[in-house]
Amino acid sequence: MKDIKTHPIGGNAGRNRTHNRRVVLDYVRANEPTGRAEIAKSCGLSFQAVSNIIEALETEGLLVAVGHKTGVRGQPAAQYKFNPESAFAIGVELRPNALICATLNLKGDCIYRERLSLEDSSPDKAIPQVCDMVDRAIAHCKRSRAQLLGVGVVMPGPFGAADMADMNAAILPDWENIDIKAVFEAALECPIIAENDATAAAISERVAGVARSMDTFCFLYFGAGLGLGVITNGHAQNGAYGNFGEIGHIVTQVGGTKCSCGNEGCLETYVSRLSVQKFMANRGIDIADADSLTKLLEQNNPALIEWIDIAATHLSQAIGILENIFDPETIVFGGAMPDSVTDALISRLQLPRGSVANRKNRKINRVMRGSSGHYTAAIGGASMIIHQITTPSMALYS
Ligand SMILES: [Zn+2]
Repeated sequence: MKDIKTHPIGGNAGRNRTHNRRVVLDYVRANEPTGRAEIAKSCGLSFQAVSNIIEALETEGLLVAVGHKTGVRGQPAAQYKFNPESAFAIGVELRPNALICATLNLKGDCIYRERLSLEDSSPDKAIPQVCDMVDRAIAHCKRSRAQLLGVGVVMPGPFGAADMADMNAAILPDWENIDIKAVFEAALECPIIAENDATAAAISERVAGVARSMDTFCFLYFGAGLGLGVITNGHAQNGAYGNFGEIGHIVTQVGGTKCSCGNEGCLETYVSRLSVQKFMANRGIDIADADSLTKLLEQNNPALIEWIDIAATHLSQAIGILENIFDPETIVFGGAMPDSVTDALISRLQLPRGSVANRKNRKINRVMRGSSGHYTAAIGGASMIIHQITTPSMALYS
């Protein structure tokens, strides 16, 4: 989990109680074991305010007393530690063909994960499956439902983008007019955060992955289509209607391949799971799952290599665009592609020279593969829940 390097100052007014709770939790997590006087001094809170918060956090099990500090003058001071097993969060990613779940303890360790193939991802079929999956995660982790902080529900966009959503095979059927947060709050009876897959994946990499030390970076999410998550100065970008980052529908080939959105030459017609499936099917090769792609790459299958070269050409253009718009520290690749295919794509990129990112003395690569694999977006969904509770200094949202 990301180290918290600085500690925000709390406020003693009553209305700041939630913020102060996070400040105290955050401080203890980074400095455990620690005592009330130290917390009060470091967080700018009164001793009484800290005592009240600690009492509440102890009752909830989030903090545990671990004895007294010895070797100091006066009364030995009670010491406290963060208890990462006292609660947990679940992230569920709904894809057109699969349901993916990651369960995290409060430290961000993944304590349970599951992937389930889906025949039908429409609301009537998928919502009961999500409920069953959450029940299985709780049972498997031997936790009580009361310890569940919430569920981060992650799915591909665009959401409610009218004609574009109707025609796009890469998005989920029949979800366009559904209030995702409200539907899952009712079904799961717990707090819900809804997020698109690419943004959740970016958050996952910032919390516990390759972008841990980065405040500004892009994440290209290879799902059925292609999505983009952007963290700028520590904030996840959302757009006015929650449809930020539909990079799959920027045109990289004027007059190119017809896209399901109605345009021609969209990036995701060249770079996505559906794109590789279609490309290989036209050459008589069926891509049933990620494993079959991995095997074909191991065999240096000429058709797959041809697809990778075409995809890399289009991706290279898109990367130049992203670099010149966002000036990111790096661009992370991740999602549904097998790691070996992602690495092959990265190795074949011909990154444009005319880019603000093409500078001397770079310490990190312009493009890198994410570290969380297939579970990255689900982990991001769970991370968002945990960070809402525990981390005042991590401004994932503006
Ligand atoms: Zn398109």
